[in-house]
Amino acid sequence: MKILVLGAGGFIGVNLTERLLKEGNYEVTAVDIEKDKLKDIGVFDDPRLRYLHLDIRTDNDTLERETKDHDLVIDLVAMANPALYVEDPLGVFTLNFTENLKIVDYCHKHKKRIIQFSTCEVYGMTAASVIGKDPKDMPCPFSEDDTPLIMGPIKNHRWIYASAKQLLERVLHAYGLQHDLNYSIIRPFNFIGPRIDYLPSEKAGNPRVFSHFMNALLYGTPMKLVDGGKAFRAYTLIDDAVDCMVRIIENPNGACDKQIFNIGTPENEITIEGLAHLMKEIFNEHFRQEGDPDPEIVTVSSEEFYGKGYEDCDRRIADISKATELLGWKPTHDLRSVIYKTMEYFVQQHRARQGQPEPATASN
Ligand code: UDP
Repeated sequence: MKILVLGAGGFIGVNLTERLLKEGNYEVTAVDIEKDKLKDIGVFDDPRLRYLHLDIRTDNDTLERETKDHDLVIDLVAMANPALYVEDPLGVFTLNFTENLKIVDYCHKHKKRIIQFSTCEVYGMTAASVIGKDPKDMPCPFSEDDTPLIMGPIKNHRWIYASAKQLLERVLHAYGLQHDLNYSIIRPFNFIGPRIDYLPSEKAGNPRVFSHFMNALLYGTPMKLVDGGKAFRAYTLIDDAVDCMVRIIENPNGACDKQIFNIGTPENEITIEGLAHLMKEIFNEHFRQEGDPDPEIVTVSSEEFYGKGYEDCDRRIADISKATELLGWKPTHDLRSVIYKTMEYFVQQHRARQGQPEPATASN
């Protein structure tokens, strides 16, 4: 099977491309404007991998030709970072909806199957938070085909990302209904692992929470809890997530045709405050070296941290029963091992840059 992976150079793309080449019988065209992470994965010279430097925003002819030349299109092209939803809502909308819609149109025109990456943010906030209840006191798991999608008001423009992704999902669904387009949609729930974001001390910008807390542990900046760190997240190791993605690609007996899949690890739930403490604990137990800082944990307002227009997803837990029933998939890593493995990657990179001995690799 010839697979076109659009946005192959990001965190999910490189981990997926690596697995497809190491374990699968696929030819992959990896499209991105960046290749640094792809060069890192050790399969860059594999003859079944073709890297194509292509900006999908500007070169429509090549994008269409490549779509036509492949059996399956996997669309990972996105701006998926909460700081950007607040800073550049129009840029987020344009890339995540307008540019992605072209890909859907080409798949329709050339009758190709598409796997579209969406987001768990399409669920928005819990019903509990809207009616002023504590989300802990109400059942939360979000299910793909039944749960309503709850966005905040327009002035909280961070929802433009979730809204753009939701609209793209609705367009895919409509194409499926009216033109029999064969699509599968994936809603990722907080994947972490090797090759996730950069550290803010090493590159300008505002990455996601794990990188901020890692930065604190390695460079001594404070661990900032936005609005007290009361929101919940449930973290999934990228390896588990890729296992599920490969099953969706293989699509046994068409089980994934016109289906939406949550990919997440419901058991790995923790508050952001809890995450800060657990990361400290795991770092101290396995990675701490003499001279490493001991960061303080502080609270900051969301306006101070992100600017005006932010609103949080209070809690999000995936109902993964569809992936289990249709694909036999279940995640296998608990929260401690997910954090350990992601932390190990950051520490190895950091120590290597400092010319210090890397931590011994240990299973956790
Ligand atoms: N957050 C935090 N400190 C940080 C960065 C983020 O407390 O340094 C919070 C953020 O407000 C949210 C959660 O951590 O409640 C997860 O944010 P992240 O940026 O990882 O992305 P998300 O899971 O919302 O997509």
